[in-house]
Amino acid sequence: MKNSVIFLLTLMSITMGVNKSAAQINNKPKYVLVIHGGAGTILKKNMTDSLEQAYISKLTESLQAGYEQIKQGKSSLDAIEAAIHIMEDSPLFNAGKGAVFTNQGKNELDAAIMDGSNLKAGSVAGVTTIKNPISAARAVMDKSDHVMMVGKGAEEFSQMNGIEIVDPSYFWTKQRWDGLQRALERDKERAELDHDDKQAFLPPYKDEKFGTVGCVALDKMGNLAAGTSTGGMTNKKFGRVGDAPIIGAGTYADNETVAISCTGWGEFFIRSVAAYNVSARMKYAKMNIEKATQEVIDEIEKLGGDGGLIAIDKSGNIAMPFNTEGMYRGTVTSDGKIKVEIYK
Ligand code: ASP
Repeated sequence: MKNSVIFLLTLMSITMGVNKSAAQINNKPKYVLVIHGGAGTILKKNMTDSLEQAYISKLTESLQAGYEQIKQGKSSLDAIEAAIHIMEDSPLFNAGKGAVFTNQGKNELDAAIMDGSNLKAGSVAGVTTIKNPISAARAVMDKSDHVMMVGKGAEEFSQMNGIEIVDPSYFWTKQRWDGLQRALERDKERAELDHDDKQAFLPPYKDEKFGTVGCVALDKMGNLAAGTSTGGMTNKKFGRVGDAPIIGAGTYADNETVAISCTGWGEFFIRSVAAYNVSARMKYAKMNIEKATQEVIDEIEKLGGDGGLIAIDKSGNIAMPFNTEGMYRGTVTSDGKIKVEIYK
């Protein structure tokens, strides 16, 4: 009798346990949109309350704009464009209005977008007059037979297709200009210390390389998409282009696997083909999103690089790993619940 009671209790607890975890799985929130506003040395102790608040409200606004599109039944591409526009138009982020300066004191912008339903993609690099480079990338994808356009040609094509053109002075902000002056000063000091005049080959300083924006989304039709927009790295030279506009490096989407947008030291993301690397791990090694993304960030760290990425898979699971002190990031679930985070 005693034994059978114990058996019954054990059975009940096992059954309840099973039911509970099944229910938890069923109740797991399905994500529809994830954004990032760059990774880097983002520490609470260096942040004022008002600046922190400004970031939180801009990231929230961006998530709301993207979510609105998804809610209305629009495509993940529309959601990405809407979410990224908000961040491109804000001086807080290194994209559009807040883009960093090149060594020559110019703002050269890069962006890419990819449609996971058909693997179509578009990107622009080194553009100086396009207010919202993510829309130029979309135009390249939708309205041309090409994937990537650079410089003057990309600007001409964008203008022909109704993309808003601005004077390069639109991108001038004091904060970024001061950032370039600090970088130039450091270059000079280092060159003097090394008795080396080859300033071109000095590696960038930690904070000269972050602040890109990106978005990945899953729409009601089950289509994944990814987009990334950036000013690149402060003090970049010789027409340097980072990972953001390179399909498979900083940006990638495939309905079969995952949508990815990266931020960080671009050269390392290019060398490790970071975004496609996540997709390949999921496709061929059958890894889940968490393991696949973490392994790619670990690989980048091993090479000596840093940064982070955002990812969403076809079932609405997400991952946002980074190996820096912080990454501006936010998520929205299918019921419209928004979450914004900054620090580790
Ligand atoms: N990945 C970008 C680049 O290397 C920079 C960033 O993420 O902020 O151009």
